[in-house]
Amino acid sequence: MILVLKRTFSMLFACFLRASGALWWARRRLRLSGAIAVLTFHRVLPDQDFEGTDSLAGMVVRERTFQKLAAYLSCRFEPVGLLDAEPGGANRKLRAMVTFDDGWKDTMSVALPIAHAHGIPIAVFLCPGLLDRAAPFWPENAANALKREQPGISAARVEALIETLKARSRADRDRLLRDLFPFPTIPYPADRTLTWEDVLRMKKMGVTIGSHTMNHEILPALCARAARREVRESKEVIAKLLNQTCEVFAYPNGDCGGGVDAIVAEEGYRLAFSTQCGPWMPDSDRRRIPRANVSEDNVTFFGKFFSGARFEYTTIWRMYRTMERARCADRELPERQVEAAAAGRSL
Ligand SMILES: [Zn+2]
Repeated sequence: MILVLKRTFSMLFACFLRASGALWWARRRLRLSGAIAVLTFHRVLPDQDFEGTDSLAGMVVRERTFQKLAAYLSCRFEPVGLLDAEPGGANRKLRAMVTFDDGWKDTMSVALPIAHAHGIPIAVFLCPGLLDRAAPFWPENAANALKREQPGISAARVEALIETLKARSRADRDRLLRDLFPFPTIPYPADRTLTWEDVLRMKKMGVTIGSHTMNHEILPALCARAARREVRESKEVIAKLLNQTCEVFAYPNGDCGGGVDAIVAEEGYRLAFSTQCGPWMPDSDRRRIPRANVSEDNVTFFGKFFSGARFEYTTIWRMYRTMERARCADRELPERQVEAAAAGRSL
């Protein structure tokens, strides 16, 4: 009940922001600041697969919603390719960049034709060690097992349990999953990753291919040597198979702490993307470029139909608020330094 009320309030607030012109203002401010709005997608699925998949709600968008969203992006924004644009400069519309994480099969079969039809370039961050596999990521397997063990379990409960498991070390988590669910999982048929042939075809179609580590490891949880191996090996394999350098990276789960951002830069990646919500600004750290996640829930009204207001509220408005907060902090910093210096002198 509380969740429904919260969601209703959030949707009404999005409508208020649209009607008051605040969303237009936020988009304008970001555009004039030279920002690029980088969007993160994972999966785009037809209705049947949307209902059947074991991927979490925060990762999936319905095909029909993506159609509407792509049309909205191409009309109200200027879609740009990941290697073709830099923040800064004067632009007629706010620039938007579409990225896909993980390398799911549906990125090529469902999302790419829609994006192309609307003139939207895309970038895909994939894990070379997990291509051409059925459900190679543990959250889908855990969700699958939970749903079989407890039929009727709510999506929110599954998500909460998986979030708890994310906080554990890999060894701890694997042991726990083995103990809880000893029987083999039966992956949902659409939960597959791309093949190398798919990746080559996408490259020929103009898709930018980046690394998402070799095996989707949460890098700060690894020792520095293992983290470097994940970062380096994936870059080498992608470069060899595509016969071009791989200079873009996205952190699995967005985790870029513990010095792994320095490893990524040392290994020769020019740009690295996190999942921290914010705009890509001219002064952003290129080793931690913010993005905004897009899921069915945050671009529709009650999962029923696409809403531009809701999409802009959950992505653009939040980016704008992040930019304004950072500016306030920058303005206050010299004042605090002066105050601290004054306090120091008076001691
Ligand atoms: Zn990922």
